[in-house]
Amino acid sequence: MKNISFPEPTITPTSQPFWDKINQQQFYLPQCQDCKKWIFYPREHCPHCFGSELTWKQASGEGRLKTWSIVHRAGHPAWQEKVPYVVGIVELEEGPSLLTHLLIDNQQLRYQLPVTISYQQLDERYLPFFKKKGD
Ligand SMILES: [Zn+2]
Repeated sequence: MKNISFPEPTITPTSQPFWDKINQQQFYLPQCQDCKKWIFYPREHCPHCFGSELTWKQASGEGRLKTWSIVHRAGHPAWQEKVPYVVGIVELEEGPSLLTHLLIDNQQLRYQLPVTISYQQLDERYLPFFKKKGD
């Protein structure tokens, strides 16, 4: 099969700073300057207090596994050669949750497993995956 490119993330002016930092292997999230809560996904207004003064700040890149799924049939042909792989929802130390790829053996997957970010290069871009903390 011919090499198929991985689909690019959908980058908007609002989410551009997130992806720029990821490409530098840094993890930044917006924080609301009114209520101090951290926000993900990036957006124009704080979903907690509707404040509009959001500042990008470096986040820990650490969290705990909330739930996961093992993918056997990929939603895009480029990912089909990677099956089976694991995707899951990580609850970040700062509060928000994000959907991400997990670099964790199936046997080690468990609720509340401590995880940490792992930048993986796909095509020309880095993506934020998560692995078991300490691995
Ligand atoms: Zn707020």
